[in-house]
Amino acid sequence: MARYTGSVCRLCRAEQKKLMLKGDRCKSDKCSINKKRPAPGKDPKARPGKRSDYGLQLREKQKLKRIYGMQEKQFSLFFERALRMSGITGENLFMLLEQRLDNVVYRLRFAASRSQARQLVLHGHVLVNGKRVNIPSFLVRPEDEIEIRERSKSLIVIKDALKEFGRSGVMPWLHLDPDALKGKFLTVPRRNDITDLADIKEQMIVELYSK
Ligand code: SF4
Repeated sequence: MARYTGSVCRLCRAEQKKLMLKGDRCKSDKCSINKKRPAPGKDPKARPGKRSDYGLQLREKQKLKRIYGMQEKQFSLFFERALRMSGITGENLFMLLEQRLDNVVYRLRFAASRSQARQLVLHGHVLVNGKRVNIPSFLVRPEDEIEIRERSKSLIVIKDALKEFGRSGVMPWLHLDPDALKGKFLTVPRRNDITDLADIKEQMIVELYSK
């Protein structure tokens, strides 16, 4: 599947929002959003135009898709799955996205960004319940144990990323033993639990796909 290989900061600039795609750099002064760089192709002095409903819905979908590092096809498959589940589709979508193995590896602080987590999974560094799983979209279930393979535990990228655990811990639906590099997915989070993405308007994404 073709993947976006351009500058990820450009994606943030297009949304004029920090999508946190580059790990530590996102929290530094080097971040393009912190530097107030304009959207790509936009004259910084131009007045912002009014967006149509469709334009707003599209931007909301692009934001969420890019935050989780997904391609259009895969994102729409997740949406279809959320639609088939009982309950509120937008909330179901978040629940599914949070269960992705690459996201869980990122949330457990084994990687500085979701794209780095995806690489760790693809390269076989991650075990789920003791078995190697190299599929980033694998859905983790409650009580699943996620750990770094023994011979990968000395990887510098993992040690560096784990420093964030000391600063901010992990989300409440996860448990991490940082010495053993082993974590647990305690429960599927509810929408309200995902506080770092509270500003995403998932209902607009539902409306977009309902057209
Ligand atoms: Fe986005 Fe991070 Fe780049 Fe800032 S540093 S623009 S948050 S990817």
